[in-house]
Amino acid sequence: MKTRLLFLGPPGAGKGTQAARLCEANGMSHLSTGDLLRSEVAAGTALGQEAEAVMNRGELVSDALVLAIVESQMKNFSEGGWLLDGFPRTVPQADALEPLLKELEQPIEAVVLLELDDAELIERLLARGRDDDNEAVIRNRLEVYREKTSPLISFYRDKDLLVSVHANGSVEEITKRITEMLS
Ligand code: AMP
Repeated sequence: MKTRLLFLGPPGAGKGTQAARLCEANGMSHLSTGDLLRSEVAAGTALGQEAEAVMNRGELVSDALVLAIVESQMKNFSEGGWLLDGFPRTVPQADALEPLLKELEQPIEAVVLLELDDAELIERLLARGRDDDNEAVIRNRLEVYREKTSPLISFYRDKDLLVSVHANGSVEEITKRITEMLS
């Protein structure tokens, strides 16, 4: 199975849930920039204080800040592979990732795009009820995804790395679908 992966997709598509399951089952490192940022916020660090207001508006934190976090975490990557969840989220982040992976001599094997209709995304996000999950912020996050992150779909398709998976159905069904696409 391919074990050096990126997860791409709109907020609410289930990236975090599926990433955790896949990493657990295959001994891969799960790097979620959203989770790392939320722990910085919870710990009240300077970085967390800088990120909190931006996250609560549903905007993206700066590329520089996210890259600093990712770079520091990449040292701890498991031999069994890794999954970057919610990163990169902009073309400049994707460009910056390339030399880092080149240095590690660990190229990306596949980019998994989780796809779901807006109506279902909004329903799932409202049910989740995180701080940044009220309706106005959700709409902004979808807009930001479309504008800043969705260009990564053709970016990775052009590199022949993109694998699309429908993110509807049960958690187990979706995991099975992803695993099949990666084997
Ligand atoms: P997530 O848990 O992936 O939905 O991320 C929650 C929030 O963290 C996002 O709405 C952004 O504000 C911020 N964030 C997470 N990852 C990134 C990233 N790669 N670039 C910029 N902001 C990010």
